[in-house]
Order: sequence, then structure tokens, then C-alpha cells
Amino acid sequence: MFDLIVKGGFLPNGSVADIGISGSKITAIDQLGTAEARQVIDATGDLVSPPFVDPHFHMDATLSYGLPRINASGTLLEGIGLWGELKQVMTQDEVIDRALHYCDWAASMGLLAIRSHVDTCDDRLLGVEALLEVRNKVKNYIDLQLVAFPQDGFYRDPTARENTIRALDMGVDVVGGIPHFERTMQDGAASVTELCEIAAARGLQVDMHCDETDDPLSRHIETLALETQRLGLHGRVAGSHLTSMHSMDNYYVSKLLPLIAEAQINAIPNPLINIVLQGRHDTYPKRRGLTRVKEMLSAGINVGWGQDCVLDPWYSLGTADMLDVAFMGLHVAQMTSPEEMRICFDMVTVNNAKTMGLQDYGLHVGAKASLVVLDAGTPTEALRLRAARLHVVANGKLISQSPRPDARLNIQDRPSTSHRRHLGA
Ligand SMILES: [Zn+2]
Repeated sequence: MFDLIVKGGFLPNGSVADIGISGSKITAIDQLGTAEARQVIDATGDLVSPPFVDPHFHMDATLSYGLPRINASGTLLEGIGLWGELKQVMTQDEVIDRALHYCDWAASMGLLAIRSHVDTCDDRLLGVEALLEVRNKVKNYIDLQLVAFPQDGFYRDPTARENTIRALDMGVDVVGGIPHFERTMQDGAASVTELCEIAAARGLQVDMHCDETDDPLSRHIETLALETQRLGLHGRVAGSHLTSMHSMDNYYVSKLLPLIAEAQINAIPNPLINIVLQGRHDTYPKRRGLTRVKEMLSAGINVGWGQDCVLDPWYSLGTADMLDVAFMGLHVAQMTSPEEMRICFDMVTVNNAKTMGLQDYGLHVGAKASLVVLDAGTPTEALRLRAARLHVVANGKLISQSPRPDARLNIQDRPSTSHRRHLGA
């Protein structure tokens, strides 16, 4: 007797299987025939996927769009300034309310693991306290990992160093940084070194906002790769954004990519944000700014799409939909072959789970029983439709259901409904 069986769905690899769940674990993936369960979800013809994973988000700022004003220039720098204004007036309860509200959206979208940066450039560490509380409140349905992020510069802000260390002492999970925002290239490189040393000493992962600029000479990823090697942090370091790589000289990149691969650095491009923030200083032709995704994948680097922002000082849209994120990434990176589109789906599921170091993730016996049933037949169709999340299961419990978004047609000689799924797909 299972607690839950998800019956007859397509797995991302195209096979059809029943998934048996006991307690919070997957205990069978097979043809379960007439096996009994307390609850059955009929997924026949639908895609069953492990949950979506967002490895780059800012939950302390989310859903604050328009507070205290809107980002008029649309640039990263005005966004940082605007966030600085909001930090002065926001309260801890407001941050918690907005974050929990966002987590409701995430749960409804099957987004069950999130790595959120939290700003440590605030002597009160109000956002840190708020998100630590949120991490605890959502732990039964969302794996929330927090990154100590010195938004205004680890050295550039006078108390950031001390406050970042305090945040880690309070239980923040990952060490962050923003080397391209320090006063000089030298300070940026030094911040990478010190922050990696802090992570190594504490046995923590590292996730830097790294080279989020159009400046081709912003090469902090090189230092990040070097320090990862030196300190033995292989596989535990992520480079977020890496947008300067878009503008770098090809010869230099041909040397850089093997260094990143050798250090097993995980790369997190954030296509929604990168396409709107980068190139703002350009006339025409205007650079796209997204990092070299296909080239990194070809070099054997683990790359996954991050969302970064929803309704905040940097981005005025967003719905917690990682299929939206992958859809944008697919377009901007021109990943349009069948194989590449399929990889884009992996980039918001398994690749991101690897970046976050999630244990027990996936659809296999012994894994955590978290999954999503999508109104699509294949991963590529899920991307095309940004498919409805019909059922979301977290730790063995059904936490969200959505109806199929079928339209009722009233057109002579045509079917009475249209659901936009492609025959046979
Ligand atoms: Zn970010």
C-alpha cells in the first residue's frame, strides 16, 4: 500500500511509468498495475518531472516593484540605488510577507528549490533575519538556500565584511560576493580570494555575482576559477551572470573555459534579467549580454538558468515560472535544435539541482518525493506551452493543483475546445 501513486505519466526521458510514494520518499518507479494507494494522481499522457529549481533569486527584494519608486533608466546601477532607498524604509514583517507570498507562487509553479541571495549590507541584517525565518516556515515544501550577498561591495561598503560574516554565523548557507562592483579590479579580485577563503574555512559553497557587466575586461571569473582550484572547492562554487564573457575576446575565452571546467564551477546565466539590463550603454548594434551558454555546455561546464528577479527594483515582470526563464534563455542563446531545447529543460531542473548540491533530488527510488505533473507530453512541449502545473507534490504531499487551461471554442465546424497541445507530442 503506497501513500500516493502518480500513474501513467511520461518521464522526461520519454518512458512511461507509475511512481509509488511512501511517506516523503519515492519507493517505486515501475508499472504498478493494481497496486493500492491512499491517493492516486492520473498523469496519463502528461509529463512528470522532478521539481523546478531556481539557483539565483533575490527573495528579500521580490514583489517590491514600485517601492519606493520605479527604476526609470532600467539599469542595474539604478536598481542597486533604488534597492538602497527601499532598504532604509522596509520592515522585517514586510519582507517576510512578500517572501511567503512569492513562495506560494513558487509552490503553485512546481518551483520547490530556490537559492536566494540576501543582502548583507545593512547593519540591522533585517533581510537576513526575515529570510532565515522564511526558510524555516517553507521547509516542508521548498528547499530555500540563502547566500550572504554584500550587494554594495564586500570592501566598498564600510561594514559589509563584518555583516557578511555575521550573516554566516546566523546560519546563512552560502558565501556570496560582487567583485565587479568593488572600487577597482584589484579590490574585486581580492574580494573573491577572501570570500573563497571564508567559504573553505567554514565548509560552505560559494556563489558570486560575477562579471555582471558589459566590460570585456571584467575577468573575475578567472580569479574565481583559480581560488576554487587553490582551495579545493571543486564543484561547490557558482559563477552567476558572467555576462562580460559575451563581450570578451574569443582567444581569451578559449583559454578561460577550460579553467572554469577544470575548477568544476557551475554557471548561472539569468536570461530574463541579462537581456533587459545588459547593453544599456550601447548604441546599435546593441549587445545581448547573455554569457556564452552553448560554449560552456560544450566545454563540459554545468550550466543552469536562474530567474534572479520577480517584480523588484531590477525587473518589472515575472511569475516564478522557470519555464518562462528557460524559454527566454532558449531564444537569447539560440538553443533551438531539438537536443538544445531538451537541454534547456534540464537547465531548470537537474542542472540547477547539481549547482545547489541538492541531495535526494530527481525521479528515482530513494529520492525525495517531490515532483510536478505538467500539461505537456514532453519537456520541449512544456517549454513551448509554459505548461500548466496540474499537480505539484512536495515531500510526498500534494500541495497544489491547477486546471488545464483549455479554451472553449464556439466556431462552426471546429472542435469545441482547444488546448494547444500538439497531436502526438
Ligand atoms: Zn542576482
